[in-house]
Amino acid sequence: MSTPPKIIAIDGPAAAGKGTLAKRLADHFQLELLDTGLLYRAVAGKVIDIGVEIADDPKTYSASAGQAARGLIPADLEVDGLRSDQVAQAASKVSALPEVRAALLSFQRSFAEHPPYGGQGAILDGRDIGTVVCPEADVKLFISASTEIRAKRRFKELQERGVEAIYARVLDDMRERDARDTGRDASPLVAADDAFLLDTSDLDADQAFAAALDFIETRST
Ligand code: C5P
Repeated sequence: MSTPPKIIAIDGPAAAGKGTLAKRLADHFQLELLDTGLLYRAVAGKVIDIGVEIADDPKTYSASAGQAARGLIPADLEVDGLRSDQVAQAASKVSALPEVRAALLSFQRSFAEHPPYGGQGAILDGRDIGTVVCPEADVKLFISASTEIRAKRRFKELQERGVEAIYARVLDDMRERDARDTGRDASPLVAADDAFLLDTSDLDADQAFAAALDFIETRST
């Protein structure tokens, strides 16, 4: 068996199963977990809270978003409502701004290199962890699933939370967010060349965990 990883990078589109997998791997390898999407959601949340609309023209919100990102504090991550799809869409707009990404980069890197609670290492999940934030990660996983499957998962999750939703709308939102995340110039969503690609379309959470673990434990370093 190879040495346990100190840094694991997990990337992929929304609802591909990254979060669940990241939690399970964090428990298994005793790593501290950072959901980096929450940082971008918190930036969007702060901009919305001060009454600035995050619409189509970035010029109207870029200064506020940059300021929000530079001033982000841990309490901002605890705010209610950050998990909503409305905030997700806004997050994918502010996350395309280079000044927002630059402001969040050092926090993410320092979390990876010096996990805040003194853990053995860290696991970060997001869109650009293996390519930009932690290009030297011991393990890189790129988790995907078909758009329809991801939209179905998100729809089910919303129903379970008692949130009213229409499947066709969830699917459209998913497509829109994917297009923005993969099409932007700043750190687009793309698999690192050395990432292990895992398609979870036909896998449940246990199977995805087993596949990732198998890869990690049999890798050559
Ligand atoms: O992962 P989550 O769905 O919470 O992310 C919300 C949005 O934040 C994504 O759609 C993406 O635009 C942005 N994000 C990013 N880079 C990351 C994590 C999230 O651009 N590392």
